[in-house]
Amino acid sequence: MSRRADRHGRGRTLRGIAVSSGIAIGPAYVVDRRKQHIEPRDIERAETDEELARFEAALAETQSQLKTIEGRLPHGEHQQILRAQQLMLEDPDLAGRVAEIVLEELIGAECALARVADEIREMLEQADAEHFRERSTDITQLAERVLENLLGHEPQALRPPAGAVVIAHDLSPADTAEMVRSDIVGIVTAVGGITGHSAIIARSMELPAVVGVDDVDLVVARGDTVVLDAIHGVVLLRPSEVELEEWNEARRQYDEFEDQVQREHGLPAMTRCGQRVTLRANVALTEEVASSRFHGAEGVGLYRTEFLYMGRDSAPNEEEHYRHAKDVLRKMAPYPVVFRTFDLGSDKQTALLDYDSDAEANPAMGVRGLRLALTNREWFLSQLRGLLRAALHGPLRIMLPMVTSLPELKLALEVVDQARQQLEDDRLAYAQDVPVGMMVEVPSAALEAQRLARYVDFMSIGTNDLIQYTLAIDRENDDVAYLYRPLQSAILQLIQRVSEAGREAGIPVSLCGELAADPRYTWVLLGLGVTELSMHPSAIPVIKNIIRSSDYDDMVSLVREVLEVEDVDDAERLVLGKMRARFPEHLDHGGGQRLATEEQEPEQQEEESG
Ligand code: PEP
Ligand code: MG
Repeated sequence: MSRRADRHGRGRTLRGIAVSSGIAIGPAYVVDRRKQHIEPRDIERAETDEELARFEAALAETQSQLKTIEGRLPHGEHQQILRAQQLMLEDPDLAGRVAEIVLEELIGAECALARVADEIREMLEQADAEHFRERSTDITQLAERVLENLLGHEPQALRPPAGAVVIAHDLSPADTAEMVRSDIVGIVTAVGGITGHSAIIARSMELPAVVGVDDVDLVVARGDTVVLDAIHGVVLLRPSEVELEEWNEARRQYDEFEDQVQREHGLPAMTRCGQRVTLRANVALTEEVASSRFHGAEGVGLYRTEFLYMGRDSAPNEEEHYRHAKDVLRKMAPYPVVFRTFDLGSDKQTALLDYDSDAEANPAMGVRGLRLALTNREWFLSQLRGLLRAALHGPLRIMLPMVTSLPELKLALEVVDQARQQLEDDRLAYAQDVPVGMMVEVPSAALEAQRLARYVDFMSIGTNDLIQYTLAIDRENDDVAYLYRPLQSAILQLIQRVSEAGREAGIPVSLCGELAADPRYTWVLLGLGVTELSMHPSAIPVIKNIIRSSDYDDMVSLVREVLEVEDVDDAERLVLGKMRARFPEHLDHGGGQRLATEEQEPEQQEEESG
């Protein structure tokens, strides 16, 4: 992370990952959760019983605090994360290891606990999967809370004033309980990634947020003015009068544009010439369903069910899938919800899989997605049965991830039939006519789309993976991110091929990768024949506004031109040039971090603001 020093020798421009778009300006409210230094305290052997009893009491006190906080949270994944923390506390290994150190080394429980927390954290931080690394913060937060109770301190309450930008090393789910009631304007954290707690909290609260800003909690003082550009992932500290004025103006324009496009949320996504497009939401948490409705989504086009398997000690059973899906359908009624069956493995790990990173040299090409479901029939059948039953309560669709061939698809469809048959045998009510579709996210599936389309009720193109596999660029590896060029002819041809296959088979073809939310590509994707786009909810109004201001013929002729050009440089010049000229405000408004690299080199941007 680069940082320029101002005349006081401290960097004023910090960079991180924008995880929830927007601009926020306000005084910093720094959450000080720095690790307490615990001096080892020697105890007598006769005192060990009392010491361990004190530790048990602190554990019980922590459990009861977490339960109280859980009760204050709206139902959903934050609650699940809190429950997972409670389970961690119950883990006999944790208490056992602390007791072992106290008894063997005759030192106080505080020091023993700090040591055990460090051991667990180190183990998790060395894990390959991002998910595990992120969960290492859970153990830190838990240990700190137990420590506070051992030391007899009152838990530190989080009371940010209205209008504040919260700055923290990380935010725990427990912090959320206090934050959902406050009137803060933005969040910046030192650690975390796209799927971390802080990012999830920020997105469900629709607050601008930047995470992964190294040491931000150490370099910002409470009360410092902070400008948060969560479109490009930049944090500006202590702005000058002139900068403040400029940023206030930028925020005003951002909010005004947001209001303007949001006003169309009830209008159809239809081009000026009458071509209808369906815009749906990509959702991973029940909390995001309300935001999907607010932004005008006509249903959920991709429900990522992987979160149901995270932060817990056993896989969800049929009943839980049923109740969860029923709840989502009720919240989204009368619109349809496409539940993707679990796409676990590779970049979406869960502790439940007991994943051994040494066993797979190429996890993206390993046992993941549908392959995992076909080898773990028990989980797959539970989910399918739950979904088929929930479909009695609303327009539910089932989508299979990572299909790579027809035999694999047929096998998965057989398992769906098996789930139906089991429900029949068990005399459980379920919906007979649930549409079953597939994701097209592997080149082989795109190339064979014509054949595959005959077996499914819909297709959805997952460009995140399709681009990864077609261009051989690991989506998790920053060093090859520069090769992510969606306008490369290979990608355009595959999207076109799938759209045509869908049209021939008379089934809808949607696109649900990150590309769908990027205003630079709206014309190209629709011009290639895609009729539905599914994206992060807050991106919908901007994309809808582009569609409503466009003519379908212009999209088709742009595609015709772009397919003619020789290389991707020319394709980008053509498409990005045209879109920028036509929709400058839309392109400045969203599209996430990638817009920053397109329009300004980071160094240049720092020169300007730092
Ligand atoms: C995709 O691959 O484009 C997609 C939508 O699925 P995910 O990002 O969850 O892998
Ligand atoms: Mg995918």
